[in-house]
Order: sequence, then C-alpha cells, then structure tokens
Amino acid sequence: MRLESPGCHPGANWYRVFIALENDISEVLPYLNADLRGLVDYDHKNKILLWASSRIEKIYAFRPHEIGITPISDREEARELTNRIIGIVNDVWNRRNEIQPNYEGKKALPTVMDIYKLLPRTNCKECGFPTCMAFATALRNDSKRLTSCSYMPEDAFLKLVSQGQ
Ligand code: SF4
Repeated sequence: MRLESPGCHPGANWYRVFIALENDISEVLPYLNADLRGLVDYDHKNKILLWASSRIEKIYAFRPHEIGITPISDREEARELTNRIIGIVNDVWNRRNEIQPNYEGKKALPTVMDIYKLLPRTNCKECGFPTCMAFATALRNDSKRLTSCSYMPEDAFLKLVSQGQ
C-alpha cells in the first residue's frame, strides 16, 4: 500500500492510496461490476473498473494488479479502507456462483435537464453555485458533487445515472 499526493492538486491535504495486488483480479471485475451499488463504470477490454460508493465519498479504481482509492485523509484511513475493499473483493469472488457477471460499461450520462428536474429549483445557493441549473451542469461532469446539495434525492440521481440515456 502506498500513499501519494495528487499531482494535479499541489498542496492538497488529501491523498490517493494504491494497493498493489499479488494476484491478478481481472476475473472478479465483471462480478464487481454486477454486484457493487452506486456509480460503477467498467471497461472490460482494458480491465478497468471505477466505482463511486453510494454516498460518493470515495472513488475506487480497480485494475488487474492494483486498487486505487481517493480521497484519503491519512494513513489510518488508508489502512481501514484497504482492509474493507479487499474484504469486498474476496466476498464477491466467493459469491461469484450466485452473481451474473456484467461485461458492459456505463451508459451515456443523463442530460443536464434531467438532473435539473430532480432539484427543487429554488436557487438557494447553499451548494456554492448561483443557480440549480449551474449545479446540475457541474454535477453531470463530476458526480462527487452530489453531496453539495442536501435537497437532491440521492436515490433518484443514482437511478438516473445507472439508467443512462
Ligand atoms: S443547494 Fe440545491 S437547491 Fe440550492 S441552489 Fe444548489 S442545487 Fe439548487
């Protein structure tokens, strides 16, 4: 396990953790793609799976010999999440006979208007954006912003994203 500062954000007070894996986990990726909840995107050809857990707090990137997690605040959190994600991978692998593997990637992103319709459209600015429309546009490009609006129904947004266009 190694911690790295994000090169694209010099001076940031958060890290990325990279977990090096002795065994190739390629075969488990389609099962993770089928079983994980939240935002999942899978590229079967290149063996890369991205997962944002349902509360969009962490982003996980799975590759054949590595799992990356971001953002991480310190080494203790890195250790805890490392143990948890290895537990999840092992659990899914042990249950693979009960899971229909999914080799498909994510469908197209929903439109800004579809996201906007889920918002209360009060333009209260609590999210830091001047309007709900501006927030909907930002959220389409970066789903980690979901928690910035406490009025957005999280389940409905995740359903919208998983359905695609
Ligand atoms: S916090 Fe939510 S409701 Fe308020 S402006 Fe932002 S998106 Fe709209």
